[in-house]
Amino acid sequence: LPTRHEPGVYNVWIEFSQLAVTTKCLNLGQGFPDYDPPSIFSNFLSEVAVEKNSYFNQYTRGFGHMRLVRALSNLYSQLINRKIDPVNEILVTVGAYEALYCAIQSNIEEGDEAIIIEPFYDCYEPIVRTAGGVPRFIPLRNTKPNASLSRANDWKLDPEELASLFNSKTKLIIINTPHNPLGKVFDYDELTMIANLAKKHNVLVISDEVYEWLVYEPAKHIRMATLPDMWERTITIGSAGKTFSMTGWKLGWAYGPANFIQNMCVVHQTAIYTCATTVQEATARGFEHEINVLNTPQSYFQNMSKELKPKMQYLFKTLQDNGLKPIMPDGGYFMISNWTNFENKLDLSSETDKYKDFRFVKWLSKNVKLQGIPFSAFYSEPHKNMAEDYLRFCFFKKDETLKKAEEILTTWT
Ligand code: PMP
Ligand code: GLN
Repeated sequence: LPTRHEPGVYNVWIEFSQLAVTTKCLNLGQGFPDYDPPSIFSNFLSEVAVEKNSYFNQYTRGFGHMRLVRALSNLYSQLINRKIDPVNEILVTVGAYEALYCAIQSNIEEGDEAIIIEPFYDCYEPIVRTAGGVPRFIPLRNTKPNASLSRANDWKLDPEELASLFNSKTKLIIINTPHNPLGKVFDYDELTMIANLAKKHNVLVISDEVYEWLVYEPAKHIRMATLPDMWERTITIGSAGKTFSMTGWKLGWAYGPANFIQNMCVVHQTAIYTCATTVQEATARGFEHEINVLNTPQSYFQNMSKELKPKMQYLFKTLQDNGLKPIMPDGGYFMISNWTNFENKLDLSSETDKYKDFRFVKWLSKNVKLQGIPFSAFYSEPHKNMAEDYLRFCFFKKDETLKKAEEILTTWT
């Protein structure tokens, strides 16, 4: 049996979700809301499950339940201003995870290179490696380390450094906007810079946009597929778990040109064949409902960031007041925070992890009863030392949970 800590075997969510349970701490680690999603969406699922003669409790079309792919086509055709063919240009998957897996597996062969921007959502690296690919990492760097207000959008790519990674073996680049864990939302110029390199070197872009609705003004979400001549080389990935705040539904999708989607379908049909019909039908109804109220005050998609912004600001102030220097996100539901004020005041010798952020986060869970996620979990092994000064917190939590976090931190510091 492999040991849990071997590279490629280790999984940060498994370790820290277990730790949250065993330490009984307040869990701001793994990203999920700790309160109910709007009942209109969950009611669709209970309706669907008991509908007579509907066949919703049986298998459905393998590449996506027809009502759902039609709804996805309807929504995204409007958003990207291009008619998306529901049958050939969309694949429904088990969460965004499976969409990422199919997109990477169907495009990477032994020795192909994939560019991954650090920090990165942790599964990108092992998926590239299991496909036989070679990940090439490039970090976002804080361009304003001395700013009085530290912002996620100040973390930027160096265009020359990025250009230097492209070569004849480069097959794809993965981008994530809004970004997990940083909360950065890539702006038009940044996306254009990446798009121009992808076009110049004939490279595919996998655009992970699972937090597409979670953007805090004035930041704006721009879809990579809408940039000039980018539809042809972009696979865009979304998640019902993030879109409807129901991470347990584990339904995702990819849309893009038919040639890429059909290759992804081959991976999907071999591993999964089809996703749960009930969840797909309920998600389709959720989308139909939302499409009708888009751009009205009833739109859940558009209200979500209004609901989360005060939570984000509350956690920001709490962290700031307690000497954990937070970085203001522009999107998503995570915030990173610099904990080095405490470094010389704590004895972390009870923890044996290689990286100090892992030692600190574990120590915090056990002794202060508050959990985050070590930031270096989102970096490749050679670059983890760039990340050790930070930890990540999730703020998609009840107000009372965030208040509890404040009480815990204030008592501790
Ligand atoms: N991409 C990013 C950036 C994520 O944060 C997550 C976690 N939810 C996923 C993909 C996977 O999403 P899902 O739960 O739909 O598989
Ligand atoms: N995307 C969520 C996070 O970043 C959940 C990750 C997971 O459970 N795999 O926290």
